[in-house]
Amino acid sequence: MGNRNIVTNSFDFIVIGGGSGGIAAARRAAGHGARTALIESGRIGGTCVNVGCVPKKVMWHAAHIAETLADASGYGFDIRRENFSWHTLKQRRDAYIERLNGIYDRNLDLSGVTRFNGHGRLLDERSVAVDDKTLRAERILISTGGRPTVPPVAGAELGITSDGFFELESLPRRVLVVGAGYIATELAGVLHSLGAEVTMLLRKESLLRTFDNSLRETVMEEMQKSGVNILTHFSIAEVSREDESIAVTAVDGMRISGFDCLLWAIGRHPNTAGLDLHKAGVATDDAGYISTDEFQDTNVDGIHAVGDVTGRIALTPVAIAAGRRLADRLFGGIAQARLDYENVPSVVFSHPPIGTVGVTEEAACDRYGHENVKVYQSRFTNLYYGVTDRRSPSVVKLVTVGEDERIVGCHVVGDAADEMIQGFAVALKMGARKADFDNTVAIHPTAAEELVTLR
Ligand SMILES: Cc1cc2nc3c(=O)[nH]c(=O)nc-3n(C[C@H](O)[C@H](O)[C@H](O)COP(=O)(O)OP(=O)(O)OC[C@H]3O[C@@H](n4cnc5c(N)ncnc54)[C@H](O)[C@@H]3O)c2cc1C
Repeated sequence: MGNRNIVTNSFDFIVIGGGSGGIAAARRAAGHGARTALIESGRIGGTCVNVGCVPKKVMWHAAHIAETLADASGYGFDIRRENFSWHTLKQRRDAYIERLNGIYDRNLDLSGVTRFNGHGRLLDERSVAVDDKTLRAERILISTGGRPTVPPVAGAELGITSDGFFELESLPRRVLVVGAGYIATELAGVLHSLGAEVTMLLRKESLLRTFDNSLRETVMEEMQKSGVNILTHFSIAEVSREDESIAVTAVDGMRISGFDCLLWAIGRHPNTAGLDLHKAGVATDDAGYISTDEFQDTNVDGIHAVGDVTGRIALTPVAIAAGRRLADRLFGGIAQARLDYENVPSVVFSHPPIGTVGVTEEAACDRYGHENVKVYQSRFTNLYYGVTDRRSPSVVKLVTVGEDERIVGCHVVGDAADEMIQGFAVALKMGARKADFDNTVAIHPTAAEELVTLR
C-alpha cells in the first residue's frame, strides 16, 4: 500500500463506473435511502453520452439532412448542397454533450450520490481504492463498461476507433472502415452520406451477421447501391503508411491503399484492466467479461456487475434497466427484481435504419423447429420516394410460432424503422399473436401500417 494517505469512508453501496448502468443504479439506490458513492475516472455519462449513442445519433441526423437535401429537388426545392462544415457540427455536438455532462452531474448531486473522480480498484471484497482514499461498503457494483478493440496487427496504431471518430476535426476524404457490426455500419453510413469515399472491410461475407437475413441483406445492398465499397473475406495482415496515406495488406497478399483514415470497428472488450478483480476474487469468463447470474450477482457475495462489462446485450437501456432493478432488489425491498433479457428491442442507425425485436427467422427455426415457424414479409417503397430520384426500400417481417401464431420476431428496415419498433416491442413483450396485429386498424399512409396488414 506504500505511503497512501488512507482515508476511509463508509457507504452502503459503491459504484465503480459512471456510465449508463452505474449512474442509473447509483441514483436508484440513493433514492431508496442507501448511502451511495460513485467513482468515475473519465467524463460522467460513460460511453453512451460521450463517445457512443448520443454523438453518433447527432451525426446520423446530419447524414439524414444531407440525404434530405439531395432529395429536395424532387419536392420542388431548388437547393444546392454546399459548404457543409464538419467543424460547426462538431463544435455544436461537443457543446451539447458538455451540457449533458452538467445535467448528469447535477442529477447525481440532487439524488444525494457522493461523487469521486478517479480510477477505482478493488482492495478486497468490501473496499475500493480511489486515489488516496479507501471506500468501504457492504455492496459494490462494477459498471466499468467496455472499450473499442484494436487488432494485434502491425501498424494498427495508424487507425482510429469510434472514440477517435468523435475527435475528428474534419471530414476524412477516403476512409477505410474495418468491421461488420452495427457500429461499423453506422459510422460508415454517416461518413458516406456526409461526402467521404468509404470502403468497408469485412472478414466474412456479410454485414450485421447476427441480424435477421431480411435486414442485413437490405442494408448491405442499399449501402453498396449508394456507393459504399464493401470488400468481403478480407483478413488484415498489416497496416502501413504509404506516402501520405494508409495502405492495408490482407493475409492472402491483396493490398489496398490511398486512405487518409482507417477506422477500427471490430468489436469491444470489457474495461477491467486495473480493477484488481483478483484481490476480491471476482471471476471473469474466457473473454474477460465479469460473469454474473440472472440477478447481476458475481461469484463474490456483495459484488455485482451490470452493463457492457458483463458481456450481456451491450446497449444503454439494458445497462440502465439492469442497474435500476439491481438497486431495487438490494435497497428497495423488491426481492425478485431483475432484468429479463428476452425481447430487448434495438435499432441500427444505418441507411436505411433497422428496428428489430425478438428472434431472427433462423433462430426461430432452430429453437422451435422449422415446421412450427411461419413468416410474413413485405417489401415496399415508402411513399416519400414517390417523387424523389432516389429510392430506398423498406422490408417488414413477422416471425410467428405455433398454431396461434405467437409473434417471436418483428423486424423492420426502412425509413422510420428506428421510431417504429418501440411500440411493437411492447406488443411482443405482452405475447401478441398475428391475429392481434390483424385486429389493429392501420394508420394510413405510414410505413408502420405494413406490419398490421401482412398477409
Ligand atoms: C459508437 C457507439 C455507438 C453506440 N450506440 C448505441 C445506441 O445507439 N444505443 C444504445 O443503446 N447503445 C449504444 N452503444 C452502446 C452503449 O454506449 C453501451 O452499451 C453503454 O454505454 C454501456 O453502459 P455501461 O454503464 O455498461 O458502460 P459505460 O457507459 O461504458 O460506462 C463505463 C464507465 O466506467 C468508467 N470506468 C471504467 N473503469 C473505471 C475505473 N476503474 N474506475 C472508475 N471509472 C471507470 C468509464 O470511464 C466509463 O465512463 C454505442 C456504443 C458505441 C461505442
